[in-house]
Amino acid sequence: MGAPLNLPERLSDDLIILDGHALADAETHWAGEDTEMIRRFEAPGPATVAQIRGAIGRWIEGRANGGPMFAYALRAGGALAGGCEVRWLEAPEGALNLSYWCYPQFRGRGLVGRAVALVLNAAATLPGARQIEAHVDHDNLASRRVAEHAGFRERGSVTDKAALGDGTVTRLRYVRPLVHGVGLDGETRCTHWHSELDVIAIRMNCCGIYYACKDCHDALSDHPAQVWPRAEWNADAVLCGACVREMSVRDYLACGNRCPSCGAGFNPGCRTHYHFYFER
Ligand SMILES: [Zn+2]
Ligand SMILES: [Zn+2]
Ligand SMILES: [Zn+2]
Repeated sequence: MGAPLNLPERLSDDLIILDGHALADAETHWAGEDTEMIRRFEAPGPATVAQIRGAIGRWIEGRANGGPMFAYALRAGGALAGGCEVRWLEAPEGALNLSYWCYPQFRGRGLVGRAVALVLNAAATLPGARQIEAHVDHDNLASRRVAEHAGFRERGSVTDKAALGDGTVTRLRYVRPLVHGVGLDGETRCTHWHSELDVIAIRMNCCGIYYACKDCHDALSDHPAQVWPRAEWNADAVLCGACVREMSVRDYLACGNRCPSCGAGFNPGCRTHYHFYFER
C-alpha cells in the first residue's frame, strides 16, 4: 500500500464543492440510489438507510485515519449530488483507484467530470502515486465518457472482488498517469516551465513517476533523477499534457515538437535539456 491518503478536506470549483460526508447525508444517498447505482456497487438489492449510515461512518473514519479510502461528498447548489472515493490498489505499485457516482436527477450536467478533475489534481500530490484507475462496467457509457474525458485510457479488463459477498466482477480497466509537479496547471505546466508550449511531462527512469520537469522531480522526490538509457527508449515515458496520451522516448524525439496524437505544439527549446532525461 502507498502513503496515507491525506487528501485536502475540501475541494471546489465555481460550481461544485467536494467535502466530507456527514451521517445526515445517509437519507439523501439512500433516496438517490437507483437500480443503476445499486448494480454498480454490486449490492444484491437496495441498501437500507442503516447500511448507508454504516458506509458513511467508514468514510468519515477513512478521512480521519488516512485510509483505507478517502471519500468526497459532491455538492452542487447546497444539495448532495453524488460522491467519489479514492483508495490504493493492491497492484500495480503506486496505483490508486477512483470511483464516482451521481444521483439520477443530477446527471447530464458535467458535475462528476468536475469532481474527477479536482480529485485528479489532488491525487497527484500523494507521494508515490503513479497512476489512477477507474474500473467501469462495459455498459456504463456515462461513466466511460467521464473517464475518457478526464484522460483515462482503456487498458483491457480487470476482475475485482465484489464489494459485498464472495463474488467477483469483471469491468473495463481505465488508466490515467498522474503527473507530479510544483504549481501544476491542468496541462502539466509547472512553476519552472509555463509557456503555452510547456505541456510535456516525463516519467522519470529512477522512480517511474511522471513529473512536469526534472526540477519538479528534484523538489518533490528524495533521490537523484536518472536518465533513460538508449536501450529503453521504446518505453512510454513522455506524456502530452494537452491530450494526456503517452508516447515512447523514441517517438517523442522524432515527433518534430508536435504531439502525434493531438497536434499540440511542444517547446522546441526542450532539446537543450534532453541530457537531463535521455542518455546522450
Ligand atoms: Zn525519480
Ligand atoms: Zn517543474
Ligand atoms: Zn497531445
